[in-house]
Amino acid sequence: MGHVVLIYNTIFETRSEIRDILLSGKTIGLVPTMGALHRGHISLLKKARQENDIVVLSIFINPIQFSKGEDLDKYPQTFEEDCKLALEAGTDIVFAPTSKEMYPDQLKTKVKVLGVTEYLCGEKRANHFTGVTTVIAKFLNIVPCDNIYFGQKDYQQFLVVKQIINDLNFPAEIVLCPIVRDYDGLALSSRNRYLNKEERQEALCLKEALDAAKDLITAHKIREVKEIEYTLIHIFECYSLVKLEYIFIGIADNLEPITKIPEGRKVLIALAVSIGETRLIDNLLLQI
Ligand code: AMP
Repeated sequence: MGHVVLIYNTIFETRSEIRDILLSGKTIGLVPTMGALHRGHISLLKKARQENDIVVLSIFINPIQFSKGEDLDKYPQTFEEDCKLALEAGTDIVFAPTSKEMYPDQLKTKVKVLGVTEYLCGEKRANHFTGVTTVIAKFLNIVPCDNIYFGQKDYQQFLVVKQIINDLNFPAEIVLCPIVRDYDGLALSSRNRYLNKEERQEALCLKEALDAAKDLITAHKIREVKEIEYTLIHIFECYSLVKLEYIFIGIADNLEPITKIPEGRKVLIALAVSIGETRLIDNLLLQI
C-alpha cells in the first residue's frame, strides 16, 4: 500500500480490511477528522505515517457533537480534495461513513466523561464532548488501532479522549501533535474559511493574547493568574468584532483552575472567542 488510498463508506468493508491487516501483524494509526483537511490535519497524518505500518484517516462530520444553532449544516465538505491530500500524506485507508451508517437507529448508548468535560468548551457546548467520546469509542471499535492522533489545537478534546481510552481500556495509545499555524500565527482550522477579510484580521487576537501570556509568565515572571487574565481581556477589548467566550488558565493534566502559575507543572492557557458567526479556539502549554 501507500500509492493508492482505499476509500470505504461502510463499517462492514472497513472491518474486514482492518481484520486482514491485524492478522498480518501490521500496526495501525488512526487519525479522526471531520474533513476539510488543512496542514494541521496533514501533520497528524504524517506523524501517523512515521509511526505505523498502516494509516487510517476517518472523515465524518459527527452530527451528535453539534448543538442546535451550530454550524452542522454549513460545515465545509471537500471530500475529493481531502482524498488527494490524504494520499500525498501517505494515508492507506479513508473511512468516510454517512450519518446513517454510523447512527442507523436512535442511539441509546452514549459515552460520557465526567470532570474534564465540565469546564472550558464543555460549559457552552453542553453535549459536545459526549458526542465526541461516543463517536471515538465507535471508531476505536471499528478500527482497533495501535495509535490514535489528536491535535493540541483541541487540547480539551485530547484529554477527554485520553480519559475514555484509560477508563474503558481501549488498547490504543493516544498521541498529541503540535498546533500548526498560518503564516501570521492564526491556528489552522476548517472554520477559518468562514471568516471574511476583516474577521480574519481580528482572529489574530488569539495568537496575540497567547504570546502576551507567555511573555508575562516567562520574561516578566508574573505568577498571579488574575493579572495575566486582566492583560488578556485588555487585548481582546482592542478587537471590535471579537466576543470573548473564555480565558482558562489551569493545570494541563486535569484542567484544575489555579490562582498562581506553579513551578514544575504543565499549565494550559486556553482561549475561545467568537468573531461574527464563527467560534475559534487556541491554546498554549507552558511549564516554568
Ligand atoms: P477536526 O477535523 O477539526 O475535527 O480536527 C481533526 C483533528 O485535527 C483534531 O485532532 C484536531 O485537534 C486536529 N487539528 C485541527 N486543527 C489543527 C491544527 N491547526 N494543528 C494541529 N492539529 C489540528
